[in-house]
Amino acid sequence: MTEKTRRIVILIYVILPFVTVITAAVLLWNRYVFWTDIALMLVLQFFCTLGITVGYHRMLTHDSFKAVWPVRAFFIMCGCMALEGKPIEWVATHIKHHAFSDDDDDPHSPLKSFFHAHMGWLFSSANFADPKEYAPDLLRNRLVVFIDRLYFLWVSFAFLIPFALGGFTGLLWGGFVRVFLTTHITWSVNSICHTFGGRAFETTDESRNNWIVGLLAFGEGWHNNHHAFPKNAFHGMWWYQFDLSGLVIRALEGTGLAWDVQRVTDDAIDAHRTKSVSMIESIAQLKQDLGRFIDQGRNDLQEMMLKLPPQRVALVRYAYENTMRQCAEIQLGLERRRTMKRAAIERRRQKVAKLFVIAKQQLQMASLTQ
Ligand SMILES: [Zn+2]
Ligand SMILES: [Zn+2]
Repeated sequence: MTEKTRRIVILIYVILPFVTVITAAVLLWNRYVFWTDIALMLVLQFFCTLGITVGYHRMLTHDSFKAVWPVRAFFIMCGCMALEGKPIEWVATHIKHHAFSDDDDDPHSPLKSFFHAHMGWLFSSANFADPKEYAPDLLRNRLVVFIDRLYFLWVSFAFLIPFALGGFTGLLWGGFVRVFLTTHITWSVNSICHTFGGRAFETTDESRNNWIVGLLAFGEGWHNNHHAFPKNAFHGMWWYQFDLSGLVIRALEGTGLAWDVQRVTDDAIDAHRTKSVSMIESIAQLKQDLGRFIDQGRNDLQEMMLKLPPQRVALVRYAYENTMRQCAEIQLGLERRRTMKRAAIERRRQKVAKLFVIAKQQLQMASLTQ
């Protein structure tokens, strides 16, 4: 599939469900959809999305602001009603995403596949991070632990509230369709915002600023800004980057309900830009060095293989070919990546070095075998 076709398929795949929902609403109007249902859907969508963006993400994960406990509790409970998992595990997984973004250990990188980043990753428990390792502080926070333990109670509210206020059609639109919308929109941050959009800052990942997700996910679409300055309470950093969650935090700060709101100064932006120039250069150098190291190792193995008596080649052929294949895959991966974290390059170097040691030992043994 060409890059253009792939992008068109992805866009259809993301947009089609939303078009289907709108079409269904129009076709079923005044039979299975009423104004009250749509109002319920929008109001719940508003609070549940803020629960994720302001509560789970900016407050719990990145500590972008402090707030009085009823405000904290309210946003975390709204986040639970979004049905994206328990808060502590969500935070742990997101911290892991920042630590390994777009590398092998990223829970949801679109470099594996777009579907994997959007929702495929949810189907494997291995992609969920261990809170003991990634969010130990939250495990000691009594308020958060209390709400986390009662997760399924808040989840039940996500359906009971629309049912109580709107009956069965209320449950359908304010409950099920609303869950579908919230989850798809927030998953788009992981998939779309690591694939499509511009980059205001150089970061060691594929994060992008995407204005559509910026609007729909209440500011979270300015995801490249966020990866550059994770603690910043405002993901929209310029006037034209609308960030509803940022406005909510600002309003909370204005009323005194929130404080210690983290901001990025112009000096910090300049410093990031200056630093990133040398960072890109040194990463390119590291990638090049690793490429040469792999070339050298493959040449050495090839020479050793050529020197083996023909009757002994069969003994090591499988191990030799396997090592060469793995090295070629790592090299290809390096070429495809525009940028990556230093630790990711180092992990690959260690892996390759180990592969070479083992393969060389096997070839030496084969040459000594009688
Ligand atoms: Zn990200
Ligand atoms: Zn984040």
